[in-house]
Amino acid sequence: MAFLLSTTGVAALWGARLIGVGPSIFALALASFAWGVLVTSGVFFPWLEMYGPVVCRGPQGGHQVALTFDDGPHPQTTRKVLAALAGTRHRATFFVLGNKVRQHPEVVLAIREAGHVLALHGDVHDRLHSFRGPWRVRNEILRAQAAVEAITGFKPTLFRPPVGHTTPATMLGARMAGVTPIGWSARGYDGMKGRTPEAVLREVERSLRDGALILLHDAAERDDFEPASIGALPELLRRLDARGLTSVTLDRWPLDGELSARSVPPARIPGESRE
Ligand SMILES: [Zn+2]
Repeated sequence: MAFLLSTTGVAALWGARLIGVGPSIFALALASFAWGVLVTSGVFFPWLEMYGPVVCRGPQGGHQVALTFDDGPHPQTTRKVLAALAGTRHRATFFVLGNKVRQHPEVVLAIREAGHVLALHGDVHDRLHSFRGPWRVRNEILRAQAAVEAITGFKPTLFRPPVGHTTPATMLGARMAGVTPIGWSARGYDGMKGRTPEAVLREVERSLRDGALILLHDAAERDDFEPASIGALPELLRRLDARGLTSVTLDRWPLDGELSARSVPPARIPGESRE
């Protein structure tokens, strides 16, 4: 709505200027700059939901969070995440890349067999995602989806855009592919080389609360380094336990728009659980 209103407003000002009744060129430049800042913010911060509903958190009152991992699968680092989660009650959602799925099908199967959920992060990690049109976005999603389905028989319907950028084309492409856009409410900034597990824990802790949707990485985007979240994971799981929080897979949360930041999440009855 903010996007439509501001775009219409700025276009109207320019139109008025062209027929000679509009504001000064300085005021027009200022309005256009403000519009640019607004629409760019919508791309970088999906929880603003400027271009449509994006699920960025879970219901509150259920003592649940969702650990999510991007950029895998990877034969070594993803298996380390699986090992850290094995033997705990915590389950996670893995946003995988189609090209890595085709390279490491055995890791994809291991994720499924351990009771975690597969979701989509695109076919390649397209850093120019923000500049792509809706058909390109749709095709990326469908290619990745087909790769996962060919190996597991499971068709993922959750999608986190590469680089986390959300544009009008992202939303349209996701809708055409029939998938639900997913954001985050907490992140470890662990996708960067040189981060330490302590720094990841500090970042996640800042937004760690009931219903948190936590963005981490089980693989490096391109290089072969180990994301710092892997070293942080055992301590993060201990902190979840200490606070009585359980990580559940995203398919256990109502993702039909109910959790969009535009609506108030339903209060959960204490003791009621979908475990
Ligand atoms: Zn990514």
